[in-house]
Amino acid sequence: MNEIVLRGIPASPGIKIGQAYLLGQEDYVVLKRSVSEKQIPFEVSRFEDALINTRREILDLQNKVAEGMGTEHAEIFDAHLLVIEDRMLIEEVITRVKKEKLAIDYVFYQVLKRYADVFSKVEDEYLKERISDINDVGRRVLRHLLGKKSKGLEGISSSVIVVAHDLSPSDTATMHHKKVAGFITDIGGKTSHTAIMAKSIETPAVVGLEIATSQIKDGNTIIIDGNSGLVIVNPRHETLNKYQRKKEKIKDLSKVYPTLKDLPAVTLDGREVKLSANIELPEEIPIVLEHGVHSIGLYRTEFFYMNRKDLPSEEEQFKAYRYVAEAMKPHSVIIRTLDLGGDKFLSQLQIPHDMTPFLGWRAIRFCLARPDIFKAQLRAILRASMYGNLKIMYPMISGVEELKQANKLLEDSKKELRAKKLIYKDDIEVGVMIEVPSAALTCDILSKEAAFFSIGTNDLIQYSLAVDRTNEKVAYLYEPLHPAVLRLIKNIINAGHKAGIWVGMCGEMSGEPAFVLLLLGLGLDEFSMPASAVPRIKQIIRAVTTKQAEVIAQEALSLSEGKDVEKFAKEQLHKILPKYYTRT
Ligand code: PEP
Ligand code: MG
Repeated sequence: MNEIVLRGIPASPGIKIGQAYLLGQEDYVVLKRSVSEKQIPFEVSRFEDALINTRREILDLQNKVAEGMGTEHAEIFDAHLLVIEDRMLIEEVITRVKKEKLAIDYVFYQVLKRYADVFSKVEDEYLKERISDINDVGRRVLRHLLGKKSKGLEGISSSVIVVAHDLSPSDTATMHHKKVAGFITDIGGKTSHTAIMAKSIETPAVVGLEIATSQIKDGNTIIIDGNSGLVIVNPRHETLNKYQRKKEKIKDLSKVYPTLKDLPAVTLDGREVKLSANIELPEEIPIVLEHGVHSIGLYRTEFFYMNRKDLPSEEEQFKAYRYVAEAMKPHSVIIRTLDLGGDKFLSQLQIPHDMTPFLGWRAIRFCLARPDIFKAQLRAILRASMYGNLKIMYPMISGVEELKQANKLLEDSKKELRAKKLIYKDDIEVGVMIEVPSAALTCDILSKEAAFFSIGTNDLIQYSLAVDRTNEKVAYLYEPLHPAVLRLIKNIINAGHKAGIWVGMCGEMSGEPAFVLLLLGLGLDEFSMPASAVPRIKQIIRAVTTKQAEVIAQEALSLSEGKDVEKFAKEQLHKILPKYYTRT
């Protein structure tokens, strides 16, 4: 078997070697469903759409494979196209739908099964192989017809590397429980929630590979290099040896970090900054403590609402928040209120998909429209505040009106608790995530109503540069060090300090070694990141003076292109810690 090297976007660091487990290779359960005479044209048009979309998908893939790996590898898709363009098959499906008045997905599935049966009985090896083409194309069409993504993750174990077209953040949460070795996906960007989750649970991941599911077969040996974004399929002996050595080197480096565990994040001239962890699930607390991190700068509570059929009750939430508060006590835990939407959906709420979900009905917008859900969460946080040092933070605030409305609902929640004679901390601090450009530009106004700011760069970058954070095709435009982003960050920090409140950052940017000097120089007070990133960030902070960082930030602000800033930032980091960081 030939070694194949695929290049994607590094999403979560680490190197793993394991067996591929392909998701989306399942047989769908297609139920028999009758349709009325009137519905038939709609069924037929659904089928046509699914065929067009599948055709487009296959052609796209064929082009990419031809470009990246040569035309001979792309030929397999010709056979796939033949299946989808088979007039006999298409006609048979449409005729049967009209005659039998059954849903198109069911009829298509039946016809497909019959085709596969016929091919399985022929002697000819070449024709026999067409079964896998039929099944592959059939699954694609059905995926479009059923609006499905991929099968569940039952049956996976810790030795496998999951290979999927796409994974939802809730799939990633499931993988945490199954302790998979790593995962790779065709689509997705560096700050998609699937990627973020992978970092939190310390699972190596590469996303945006585009052709992974078409090039990797179930059971193939693969190397996943989450540091460089490479995936090697059927590695040669020498490659395997090379990666074993790399793994050893990473192990050596990770020996340095524990020595920093109990030391403060303080610059050479004595300025201390706060390093906190981002978590998605309370189960991550042991990982946080292992890394010597004492505070939580962002608890993404929406994961609590995922992977379940019902909404969590106030009581259930109270127990979870109380557990986190007690586990981190006396240190602070910032609980971000429900930030659903974007790439995080909750099946139990049956919310229709927005055309542009990141700009749609999400986060605080949803919570203000559903005070029943929002207030249940607020009451749970308030009650849990008695057991530790909790703070509240609202996501996606775009202006002060929203902040005032949210605070009004917070006051209502307090009143409801008083009526029930339940206790809470009345002076609980309330902060705002600054992740929308309009908020970044009106921080002076927002600061009057907020106890702190935390910059959500993942969204701030996507909104200010108009780049979908989950789309691998525009990933090249997603530049954290774009001058526009740097100016916004500077504006937020200055406005916060002017108003006398602290400013943190909980976007992925704060855990990137190359960006730390710059952010320190801009005056950031708190850095919140996946716990595993804390040691390396602490090491950098302890190696510079405030003055050095300020000079670096000044110089960076004078550059006109993001890539120049990045180059400059990497050079500076290399100068400060040459043993650990290369110039590029
Ligand atoms: C952000 O947008 O930077 C952030 C931290 O929130 P999330 O990634 O959950 O949108
Ligand atoms: Mg966000």
